[in-house]
Amino acid sequence: MSFKELQLCTPLLKAIADEGYTTPTPVQAQAIPHILAGRDMLAGAQTGTGKTAGFTLPMLELFSREQKPQSKKRNIRALILTPTRELAAQVGESVKTYGKYLPFKSTIIFGGVGINPQINALNNGVDILIATPGRLLDLINQKVVNLSHVEMFVLDEADRMLDMGFIRDIKKVIALLPAKRQNLLFSATYSDEIKKLCESILKNPAIVEVARRNTSSELVKQSVIFVDCKRKSSLLGHLIEKNRWEQVLVFTRTKHGANKLSEYLIKMNISSAAIHGNKSQGARTKALGDFKENKVKILVATDIAARGIDIDSLPHVINFELPNIAEDYVHRIGRTGRAGNDGEAISLVCVDEFEYLKGIEKLIKKTLDKNTIEGYEPDPSIKAEPIQQGRGGGGRNNNHRSKSNAQTPKKRDSSTHNRDKNRR
Ligand code: AMP
Repeated sequence: MSFKELQLCTPLLKAIADEGYTTPTPVQAQAIPHILAGRDMLAGAQTGTGKTAGFTLPMLELFSREQKPQSKKRNIRALILTPTRELAAQVGESVKTYGKYLPFKSTIIFGGVGINPQINALNNGVDILIATPGRLLDLINQKVVNLSHVEMFVLDEADRMLDMGFIRDIKKVIALLPAKRQNLLFSATYSDEIKKLCESILKNPAIVEVARRNTSSELVKQSVIFVDCKRKSSLLGHLIEKNRWEQVLVFTRTKHGANKLSEYLIKMNISSAAIHGNKSQGARTKALGDFKENKVKILVATDIAARGIDIDSLPHVINFELPNIAEDYVHRIGRTGRAGNDGEAISLVCVDEFEYLKGIEKLIKKTLDKNTIEGYEPDPSIKAEPIQQGRGGGGRNNNHRSKSNAQTPKKRDSSTHNRDKNRR
């Protein structure tokens, strides 16, 4: 799919080309047609998916199709609420970037900086307002902001908004919006609170998921198997053979890890393919096609590569390594248990990953079942290396730790080999 096929006007296509984008990301390809059709939308998408362009492009397109007379003072046609000033600034930047060949004015308002320049900008008239809730309410109270002409309301990172305690502010703002408007809600996770919020805001929404929205679907049986890092590959092979699994999506943290694990499985005579960002689109499409048609049993993927994977009856998801961003766990396990089918998500966790596990359990508000497998019990003398703290228990920059644990069968260390022999 191209941006042109999404029915965007020339000024937008030109701005997109200036940015060097050639194809829409999955969230853009899915969301833009719904938004252009005027529908409300719930999108399960997090930062990094291209979601900002996913709503700003169709917003600008719709506004350019129905331009208001220039002579009149501009009314606020779109309100975009974000939880943080950083996100407000980013979204504001995107609106300016994509709208640079269109005549619309936008402004960003957030707290912690002088209010007067924001008042001046608002008094000059804006079409698109990007705001954090607190400062917006301040300005509403000062009667500088009039929301009665808003045609489109966007709640960005709604889950974070709720985490930050903005629910009352959001409700106050919504009460000031006209009843007839288009609503778009973006959230990386899908808690009961978010569900309630969606029900109160969205009317018959289109649902777009580039990443799974459910925090931990009831249909997905989740568990953890403790195992030493070096023995994960052989344990995975063992589980696949013992349980006669026929279709398994396996997640690794790195592209290199995905390749090595896939090669390892092939050497064990288990059909497997790897997909990740370094593979050509053709190779990815083929691997996915083979996997869907059961020509290949195991698909090893990195988080990014798996975003577009949509298989309704996928029975097993294995986290060969836990993601260092806890939210990614939610997206991974959401690949199974879909469309009413039962699914199973098993995480192979070694001592180095305990912090990630804690972060995940905190996020999903659930303690996962933890097991060991006979013959693969972790060696208690192996201690964790210290890991950096960050979102989800680990930092994004843990590259030194993201090395693959996959080993070829020949290269297994002697202790593993002996233990395997004993097992047999
Ligand atoms: P977002 O998820 O909105 O924060 O966007 C993540 C990044 O993806 C931003 O740096 C965008 O500039 C970039 N981006 C958005 N859409 C595309 C696209 N279609 N192709 C390439 N990059 C994109």
